[in-house]
Amino acid sequence: MATLENGRILVTGGAGFIGSFLCDALLAKGYEILCVDNFYTGTRQNVEHLLDHPRFELMRHDVTFPLYVETDEIYSLACPASPIHYQRDPVQTTKTSVHGAINALGLAKRVKARILQASTSEVYGDPDIHPQSEDYWGHVNPVGPRACYDEGKRCAETLFFDYRRQHNLQIKVARIFNTYGPRMRPNDGRVISNFIVQALTGRPLTIYGDGSQTRSFCYVDDLIDGLIRLMNSPADFTGPCNLGNPTQFSMLELADIIIDLTGSKRIFERRPLPQNDPRRRQPDIALATAALGWKPITPLRTGLAKTIAYFESRLRIKPLTTA
Ligand code: NAD
Ligand code: UDP
Repeated sequence: MATLENGRILVTGGAGFIGSFLCDALLAKGYEILCVDNFYTGTRQNVEHLLDHPRFELMRHDVTFPLYVETDEIYSLACPASPIHYQRDPVQTTKTSVHGAINALGLAKRVKARILQASTSEVYGDPDIHPQSEDYWGHVNPVGPRACYDEGKRCAETLFFDYRRQHNLQIKVARIFNTYGPRMRPNDGRVISNFIVQALTGRPLTIYGDGSQTRSFCYVDDLIDGLIRLMNSPADFTGPCNLGNPTQFSMLELADIIIDLTGSKRIFERRPLPQNDPRRRQPDIALATAALGWKPITPLRTGLAKTIAYFESRLRIKPLTTA
């Protein structure tokens, strides 16, 4: 475990939304960071403020190819996360999860590093049980348009546990639920960035289906705290461990909160519900609370206000309200 100051940590997908905040937090704790990314959905801009940092290094690399570096810990985050992006090149998405996991695990085995996988609530698919706890095996369509992501992540989890059983690797598996915050791209395609950008630019908010489907949204700072706690948890705690905010909202409720916070007009554009779109999603975080002492502390409105401020400055829009 890299508890020593200047312990070396590899973050794959480090120029993405979550990865860039993870790099910030780990640098602040004194670690040396090697950030690896192929910029498929991430950007140099997300880590631009770190480029001159003496303990930060950015490397362009595709995780589907092996990587030979020295490291004490690996956070495996590389993978497009937004449905429109992971469905654009589904074969590459599966490769990124599966070949990426094999390469990261092979590296962890060689250098005896502890390794954490950014898995997802999507392993539960369109869940039959609610809220979802880690002992639920899920309800995933293996041949649907989301399968490249869902099954890729499920296979990566399998590989993590087999490397532990077969090679005694120190693994951690985080099942991350919908997370949001600054540094999401305006064209990311996920619901929070879509709604905020639409509200700030005076366009109708795109509601897929009837808007009654639910999600539970976690602010990125809370998630980063959970990921680092999980990495630093005792060796016999592997997870899988849910990390997410259990407060659940329908997409219509979310739209109304964003309209309220931005002071924009309440105009909706209805679009068809994407195929296999989960009807509901809410994490049971009892395990994370018991094992890691973790629970999210940022209410949705607080996190959204920070995210809206980010998009206002990114899009160079004057705030519509003074609130
Ligand atoms: P993101 O798209 O912003 O970040 C993913 C990063 O991985 C990007 O920088 C991208 O360029 C990089 N990447 C993709 N393919 C790669 C490859 N082959 N080689 C190297 N780099 C590659 O998404 P995010 O929201 O920051 O998600 C980060 C991780 O967390 C992902 O693994 C995602 O599956 C997981 N996750 C995120 C959420 C969420 O709500 N944000 C929920 C569940 C799981
Ligand atoms: N959604 C929506 N309008 C949008 C984008 C998404 O109504 O502009 C819905 C989508 O159908 C899903 C939910 O919002 O039910 C969350 O979608 P997102 O892509 O953010 O993440 P998911 O949890 O589906 O991976």
